[in-house]
Amino acid sequence: MTAAYDISHDWEEPEDLHAMLQILRAQRDDANVRRIRYAFFRAEQWHAGQYRQSGEAYIHHPLAVARIVVDMRMDDDTIIAALLHDVLEDCPDVKPETISKEFGEDVLAMVEGVTKLRSAPQGEMTRRQQVIAENTRTAETLRKMLLAMAKDFRVMVIKLADRLHNMQTLGSLPPPKQTRIANETLDIYAPLAARLGIWQMKWQLEDLAFQVLHPVEFKDISERVATTHPQRSRELDEAILAIKTKFEERGAKMVDIRGRPKHLYSIFNKMVKQNVGFEQIYDLLALRIIVETVTDCYVALGIVHETYMPIPSLFYDYIAKPKPNGYQSLHTKVIGGSGSPIEIQIRTVAMHEIAEFGVAAHWTYKEGKMALDETRRLGVLREQLFDWNSDQRLSSDFLRTVSTDLFSEQTFVFTPKGDVIDLPKDSTPVDFAFRVHTQLGMTLVGARINGHMAPLSTKLNNGDVIELINRSNATPSMDWLEFVKSAHTRSKLRGYFRKLTKFEDAQRGREALEKEFRYFGLDPKHFMGEDHLQKIADTMDSAENATDVLAKIGLGQLSVRTIVNKLRGTVVETHTADRIEVTKTKEGKLTLVTSGIDNVMVNRAKCCSAIPGDEVVGYVTRGRGIMIHRKVCPNALAYATAEPERLIPYTWPPDGNVYAVGLKIMSVNRTGLLMDISTILGESKTNVSALKVKTIQNHTAEIDVTVDVKDTEHLSHLMTKISNFSDVISILRMFGRITK
Ligand code: MN
Repeated sequence: MTAAYDISHDWEEPEDLHAMLQILRAQRDDANVRRIRYAFFRAEQWHAGQYRQSGEAYIHHPLAVARIVVDMRMDDDTIIAALLHDVLEDCPDVKPETISKEFGEDVLAMVEGVTKLRSAPQGEMTRRQQVIAENTRTAETLRKMLLAMAKDFRVMVIKLADRLHNMQTLGSLPPPKQTRIANETLDIYAPLAARLGIWQMKWQLEDLAFQVLHPVEFKDISERVATTHPQRSRELDEAILAIKTKFEERGAKMVDIRGRPKHLYSIFNKMVKQNVGFEQIYDLLALRIIVETVTDCYVALGIVHETYMPIPSLFYDYIAKPKPNGYQSLHTKVIGGSGSPIEIQIRTVAMHEIAEFGVAAHWTYKEGKMALDETRRLGVLREQLFDWNSDQRLSSDFLRTVSTDLFSEQTFVFTPKGDVIDLPKDSTPVDFAFRVHTQLGMTLVGARINGHMAPLSTKLNNGDVIELINRSNATPSMDWLEFVKSAHTRSKLRGYFRKLTKFEDAQRGREALEKEFRYFGLDPKHFMGEDHLQKIADTMDSAENATDVLAKIGLGQLSVRTIVNKLRGTVVETHTADRIEVTKTKEGKLTLVTSGIDNVMVNRAKCCSAIPGDEVVGYVTRGRGIMIHRKVCPNALAYATAEPERLIPYTWPPDGNVYAVGLKIMSVNRTGLLMDISTILGESKTNVSALKVKTIQNHTAEIDVTVDVKDTEHLSHLMTKISNFSDVISILRMFGRITK
């Protein structure tokens, strides 16, 4: 983007913005302060003339939200999206294109992600209808947010910051609205913050909602916390001083030590759930020590245990064995100076940030500032996002229902870089590839799922990491259509297969058929002659000839197996009709007779279409009698090398039947020639069973014709006559029939 971020020079930077930018500069030197200042400037312009319920200018709200986002150490785009988060909802003149043009697609996607769905225009509604409509809209909005979050969790960070500021300024709203928003906060937003591991925000949201929903209890608990405070803080200060002194004696390093705040709502919750008194919960002293490195953690633990007597069974090493959500710390409990127990947590700066900011901290560190390896990071993110059902912390039924619903229709998987891709349930690596990029789908040859090679038809599970293997000259396979799940992929594949020419379809169909015949141990040549395929075509409305049939197979519109079965049926019939019988002569040679008893069945091989008079050889098949091949047939030559014992000498006198033979005629003029050929064939009473004409160059034609002839004499008579025409360049007898 080459935007100039020009701001009118009479504009003054507000103090709050200035303060935020100062913090940002101190946080990281790569922050684009100019761009963020410009985003504020635009937001201020767009929200001009709008006010909040409290009476202050609207822009204070997005700025406060951006500030919370900055405190969470989010990136420039998230800060900008926070500044612009209400623009699409509240400023009808602002178009999405304007946002993407000035700030990029990522910012726009985040702003759209946090924008509420518009409620349908409502006419007169009863109170009940209003409640239902409101609930439906909330559920829909939540679905949309969860989807947006699964794609980019930064959306959720903004949404939570937005909610936090709204809760902080809830006082200016009418009481019924306060109650509704506070309830929603406890139901949806606090559990979501917990889900993302952003505990700091969860606690703030809960305490704010608690204050609104249970004002009496809130007052009671906060007063009791305040009154026990002097005594407690004296004990805490003593402990802190004692530990600090020991650290100095040892020359050990420490970043921070302080008392751990107890959260009012969690005290209240424990009192209600465990039915215990305030003192039993609040009695406990809690300390946290922050150090630089993992080694420092264990050094600190040693020092603490030297200072105070540890309670043996209450030590937990969550560094060696992190909690499933990635939480790491050392936990110990010791007996303090005045005899009361002190809970102590010891962790590094990075561990602390993860404990407080959750997913957000993982994100912050993804540029490699921290040695949390990629796999772990992905694992944690996966855990946070997808394992909803098993989550005991997720107390809200509403959230559970919506999310279970959502995740039962979609599957969320990851690219190796950690981008989230959503797909319909039961999608495969092929769907994934086409979803990421059409070209990746078109050239796909394999896939690794979570590091292991897997078939392309594997159904993907939530949280799988998919790595595609592509080859630039690869093409999609027809059988993908059998298992792909998404409509998008299906239509891409269909489009691709349609685009191939019919010839290629037929070619693929032919290969598929041949493969299937071979699978059954049959010789495809025997079954796939033009005449057999034509018989199949005759039974279908949508196919005229053999090519149509093959193309349909190639397109996947006809099942290969069905056609193979049909052809096997057809060819058996043909055999019966073509059946010739042989007897052994005295010399031990086989000769053909038209009828006889106890004779061997002899068939004419389709590959070379022998006729009486040809030099032929018999091939003894496995279970299908004897096949007659011409001696020049490539198959016969192959048998002569591979299985000479199966070849038997053979003679074949004319038997009164006619046999189809293919001829290929090259000529310079086709119209006149066709007439002449027809005449010759007519005179000799020769039947034509197939004819095809193809123009090769401007004046050259290739004529493929199948004629039914009695024997070699009959055939050579025809060929001589035809070659006598001056237009004819060449005439060739083909092996087999015309097949294309
Ligand atoms: Mn807002």
